[in-house]
Amino acid sequence: MAAEIRLFPCLSDNFGYLIHDPATKATASIDAPEAAPIVAALEREGWTLTDILITHHHHDHVGGVAELKQKYKCRVIAPHDKSTKIANADLRTKQGDVLKIGSLLARVLETPGHTLDHVSYVFDNEKTVFAADTLFSIGCGRVFEGTYPMMWDSLLKLRALPDDFKLYCGHEYTASNIKFALTIEPDNPVLKARAEEVRRLREANRPTIPTLLGEEKKANVFLRADEPSVAASVRMKDRSAAEIFGELRERKNKS
Ligand SMILES: [Zn+2]
Repeated sequence: MAAEIRLFPCLSDNFGYLIHDPATKATASIDAPEAAPIVAALEREGWTLTDILITHHHHDHVGGVAELKQKYKCRVIAPHDKSTKIANADLRTKQGDVLKIGSLLARVLETPGHTLDHVSYVFDNEKTVFAADTLFSIGCGRVFEGTYPMMWDSLLKLRALPDDFKLYCGHEYTASNIKFALTIEPDNPVLKARAEEVRRLREANRPTIPTLLGEEKKANVFLRADEPSVAASVRMKDRSAAEIFGELRERKNKS
């Protein structure tokens, strides 16, 4: 039986995610921005929370953990401490670990840069990755704690996943990401098509997530810092991909 995934808004622009295993009834929440919408989603489905998979320590990803753990006695899985301590963790996880959520398998990718502790969870059998604040649709997270080369390496890890994997990210930032990406690649046909699709989705008040990694590889300028055309657009032809990535990220910060 295929895993079921539910997506719903939390806080102002975060996503809440549940992944459910029909075979064992196990259900994991990816992060916990706030408890109430997660509880509501669980009750709508008649599911019981068994696990919380935390991607990083920021409050808008862990704010609901304590309340959910109290209510469901669920297992809380968090990255190894590399920056601020995450409270309430039962299990610390690192690169290469494979976690069992019922019969579902979640592989851990360390994707530092936004924070030093940031991990992404890859469900290979479901062709799904939860990348939180490392990789957004047509964007990437701000580099708060790491370095640009570190973040570029993390994006390369995610880019190495197959094209038919679905990307679920931490925030609904796609429309503003597209506005910026078009300043770098105004003639990218896949980006222009995505811009049109996102305009329609947002008009209908629908989420722009999930998106396919294959589409992101063609349209997300932050995954394309090693494309000669992107280097040319920012006039950095002889520079490394990590330097070009850093320039793109700085321009986005100022945009
Ligand atoms: Zn964050």
